[in-house]
Amino acid sequence: MSKFFTSKYSALTPYKPGEQPRDKKYIKLNTNESPFPPSPRAIEAASEAAKSLQLYPDPTYRALHEAIAAYHGITPDEVLLTNGSDEILNFAFMAFCDKEHPAAFPNITYGFYSVFATLNHVPYTELPLNPDFTVNKADYMGTRDTLFIANPNAPTGLALSLDEIEEIVRSNPNRVVVVDEAYVDFGGDTAVPLIKQYDNLLVTRTFSKSRSMAGARLGYGVGSKELIRDLNTIKYSTNPYNVNSMSAAAGLGVMADEDYTVKNCAEIIRVREYTKAALKDLGFEMTDSLGNFLFVRHPRIKGEKIYKALRKRGILVRHFDSVLISAYNRITVGTMEEMKALVAAMADIVKE
Ligand code: PMP
Repeated sequence: MSKFFTSKYSALTPYKPGEQPRDKKYIKLNTNESPFPPSPRAIEAASEAAKSLQLYPDPTYRALHEAIAAYHGITPDEVLLTNGSDEILNFAFMAFCDKEHPAAFPNITYGFYSVFATLNHVPYTELPLNPDFTVNKADYMGTRDTLFIANPNAPTGLALSLDEIEEIVRSNPNRVVVVDEAYVDFGGDTAVPLIKQYDNLLVTRTFSKSRSMAGARLGYGVGSKELIRDLNTIKYSTNPYNVNSMSAAAGLGVMADEDYTVKNCAEIIRVREYTKAALKDLGFEMTDSLGNFLFVRHPRIKGEKIYKALRKRGILVRHFDSVLISAYNRITVGTMEEMKALVAAMADIVKE
């Protein structure tokens, strides 16, 4: 820390992203990226947009807002495009949380929520999950907190039903409920249609997973016009051109190629279910994940040991430091070929 670093941030422990190793070629199953390349239409649109990089983007991103709104059956002023969904989550902490509106989220969930809370000086409560990692809905009913719920949750992959989400939203009419749907395209039910009924619901989505565009940094939030207006106040007070022109163009390209996304999601679900069955045959235990990842432990072998043994065999997965989940590894679902290699490596490790 330099002597110039403000005390405002000295307590901040930054989010630790998954490794992006350069030392050798791994089978990379550690950051929930898609194993498939972006849609050719996204690549073509981004290349075309590169020819006009001397210009600022249209800060309203009108065309992409319209495409997203058409996809969800809502209006463009119910959408806000951001630099990855991380940005809309940070905007939500900035706009809807303070000492009178503290944040609450599960004690096992996306690690960035607590970082955003600390960054924005927002007090927060971590609500314990049940021993089987399910959310205890009662903890989220009628609270005084701004709620952040990843649905499906990460890294467990477990989801609340749409009815349960609606009950939570309905029971907190004076608090914003943020439903983070980064992984919803792999099997969860979206809460987006509920925004017409509930002015306190913000749903966040990303192009990073099902749309194979993690490198483009594209995400968005969906909510009532009033919520979106507040979030726009934050956007225009921080970075009006928060999405670069190539990413916005790529976003339009992939939205026009929905068959590609649907086909890739179906394949990831097929490979996920194959991997679940194959790992269970080897004695592994796991949640019934609806994400593009599995959350896996072995009754006899420590999580960290499995992580290291896989790494030695050129396969990278995610092991978390938290004691609550140190027995587990989170394994992104890759291609069938990659997952067959993972299963073979696991068979080897179990035999050792
Ligand atoms: N929410 C959850 C639950 C995530 O796992 C991630 C990705 N790590 C994000 C949001 C953020 O993704 P992005 O910023 O790439 O949209």
